[in-house]
Amino acid sequence: ALAVTRDVTDSRRALAGLRAREAQEAAMRRAATAVARETRPQRIFGAVSREAAALLGLDAGLVLQIRDGGARAVGSWSAGPVEPVPLPPDELFTGQSAEVRAARSGRPERVDDYAALDDPTARRRAAAGHACAVAAPIWHGAALWGVVAAVGGRPGAIPPRAEALLADFASLAGLAVVNAEAREELIEQALTDHLTGLANRRAFSERLEGELARAERHGHPLSLVVLDLDHFKRVNDRRGHEVGDRVLVEVARRLRSESRRGELVARVGGEEFAWILPGSDMAGGVSAAERARARVAAAPIPGVGTITVSAGVAALCDGESGQDLLRDADRALYEAKAAGRNRTVSARGD
Ligand code: GH3
Ligand code: MG
Ligand code: MG
Repeated sequence: ALAVTRDVTDSRRALAGLRAREAQEAAMRRAATAVARETRPQRIFGAVSREAAALLGLDAGLVLQIRDGGARAVGSWSAGPVEPVPLPPDELFTGQSAEVRAARSGRPERVDDYAALDDPTARRRAAAGHACAVAAPIWHGAALWGVVAAVGGRPGAIPPRAEALLADFASLAGLAVVNAEAREELIEQALTDHLTGLANRRAFSERLEGELARAERHGHPLSLVVLDLDHFKRVNDRRGHEVGDRVLVEVARRLRSESRRGELVARVGGEEFAWILPGSDMAGGVSAAERARARVAAAPIPGVGTITVSAGVAALCDGESGQDLLRDADRALYEAKAAGRNRTVSARGD
């Protein structure tokens, strides 16, 4: 009879274990699905934080990115009184929190009771409502990308097998994070001119449409400057295409240094640049163009000599499209060339 009882108890235990595993696998699937739904890194970090906490039934989640010798909280989620804790730079090297220990060891780590640890970083956590935490590394190939942590508001709240579960989730989260970063970089590259590092024509067109809509919605002015290098063919003919490229890079640098936050300078053609100035009317556009023109001509480019640009400026009128604005600016530029170059001309209102 004893043997039979043990048999039943054993199989009950086995069944309970199986159910627990099934529940964990279902939780993992839910978490992975929630993370996979996001495409932007920022939203992925938020989903990973939230799902790490949900997976382990804890109160808060945190994603730390480890880069340039420092740790930065890039995502966090909290159900209640557990607050995010700032990370002083030295904590990464000396701290005893689960997060920084996992970052150092490259393995999942747990702390069951922060209050029992005699350490300033642990005390800081206890003060912010962290009673316990489990953390696992996120890898990018063989390199440590960061750490995901789940935090509990009561000591001893971390379930059994939490380290292994969180480590599995961290490897899924790592895939999502790395994919999203690669995707962002591709988008970035597709919008960048590789010679000068400025926005390219495509980025310019997209931005112009966006700024135009915004200007119309808010009734704000908007001006556009197009600039073209003067007699640039001569530089190429005399000194070669490579020197010509160097001139383009230097002119791009000078133009960029004259632009302000919220504006966009793009290379829209071989030796043609366009500058979007949200909030600037014609006078603002002209003075920006004059500043840039003077800046380019002010100092000779080493090995080449003085380079000048001509500029055409247009300001947005009611009901105009981006095409209209660009056409007006181009016409003004053409007039600047015809009038002798190294000058700024503003489009006449028709
Ligand atoms: P203008 O003052 O009338 O603008 O004269 P320009 O010689 O600058 O104008 P034109 O349109 O006749 O020539 C532009 C030249 O720019 C043609 C080409 O040799 C050069 N160019 C265009 N794209 C590039 C580039 O990416 N690199 C280099 N090195 N040269 C380029
Ligand atoms: Mg040209
Ligand atoms: Mg030219």
